[in-house]
Amino acid sequence: MLDFAIIGGGPAGLAAGLYASRGGLKEVAMFEPGMPGGQITQSSEIENYPGQLEVVSGMDLMESWLPQATRFGMRHEMDEVARITRREDGTFLLTMVSGKTHEALSVLVATGSVPKMAGFAGEKEFLGRGVSTCATCDGFFYKGKEVAVIGGGDTAIEEALYLADLASKVYVIHRRDAFRAPPAMVDRLKARENVELVMEAKPAEVCGDQSGVTGLKVTLKDGSERDLPVPGVFIFVGRIVRNNALLQEGGHYLCETTEWGEVKVDLRMHTDVAGLFAAGDVREHAPKQVVCAASDGVIAALEAIAYINEEKAKNEGN
Ligand code: FAD
Ligand code: NAP
Repeated sequence: MLDFAIIGGGPAGLAAGLYASRGGLKEVAMFEPGMPGGQITQSSEIENYPGQLEVVSGMDLMESWLPQATRFGMRHEMDEVARITRREDGTFLLTMVSGKTHEALSVLVATGSVPKMAGFAGEKEFLGRGVSTCATCDGFFYKGKEVAVIGGGDTAIEEALYLADLASKVYVIHRRDAFRAPPAMVDRLKARENVELVMEAKPAEVCGDQSGVTGLKVTLKDGSERDLPVPGVFIFVGRIVRNNALLQEGGHYLCETTEWGEVKVDLRMHTDVAGLFAAGDVREHAPKQVVCAASDGVIAALEAIAYINEEKAKNEGN
């Protein structure tokens, strides 16, 4: 029986593993099907991790996180969790994609969420070289320059507002004539002098060269094309929350989630199921930053230690 099963080996899962094993839990295992490090390993440069003065790649930033955690006893299993279920006695059963099973007293879901791509030419080719899915991460690189934002939901409008404080001009490209985001938020955007809304327009192609993005072609309603000379293109067309492991046989989730699938937690990363925690980008209201995911993981680990000690004390009292 594991004390603590960690699902996902990104910053949240790895930070949780370090604190749980260093904090005295004996059986701590982290399940991650790929190389640990999480989605930040796709980034060629990170310059906002506190204390990290040099700009480093995501891969370099995460390199020491796994050995640091395993040094204190955390185990890494290269396997994907297919389903987490809770048994009558309050413990958890993990069913793995490999067919194996594991039992655990407490579980942390740290499986992240991934941005959707819009599907136009050049988008993937220039990802990380002018195409971005994170304004907090990359907005600063476009200080005083022009950028384009794709999307019409809450995220696109919120991030366009954030970018409007940094960029000289923000083009917001939306495929319909009405935004999904609430009118009050859209009004705040419209009030910004350096924002231009390009409605009923679809991104057709990101253009660029060796140095990165040089512009974006958009197709307008009448079929004509417009060239926007932007070095930065931000895509906010929704996210895929990686919550599959929580899906139960009846089609419901093991714990409470938001209507778009993010796990609901309190300030201590507890879900509404005792012994089940969530941390990082998979949780509701996550700022989607490495430092925040790591902090969530640490909080969850400290809470799991307290939970397990309480459970063990209860059982010893019986
Ligand atoms: P993730 O990093 O997404 O890790 C989740 C892990 O869970 C993954 O490794 C996945 O394989 C695993 N997993 C999923 N499902 C299962 C399952 N069923 N079983 C087992 N394992 C599973 N943040 C910054 O702070 N600064 C930046 O400059 C920055 N730049 C970024 C650039 C890019 C290109 C990207 C993509 C992200 C960037 N971010 C940045 C955001 C940052 O990467 C995330 O906020 C952070 O990685 C979230 O950590 P996490 O541990 O919650 O999730
Ligand atoms: P979203 O609501 O799904 O919006 C995605 C937007 O991208 C839509 O405007 C959609 O256009 C557009 N889009 C989708 N695919 C596209 C494509 N291939 N090409 C061009 N445009 C495309 O996603 P989100 O904004 O990330 O929000 C997700 C959820 O989180 C929502 O429920 C939202 O309310 C919530 N959220 C809330 C807040 C908040 O309350 N402050 C903040 C952020 C997110 P259409 O409109 O035409 O479909």
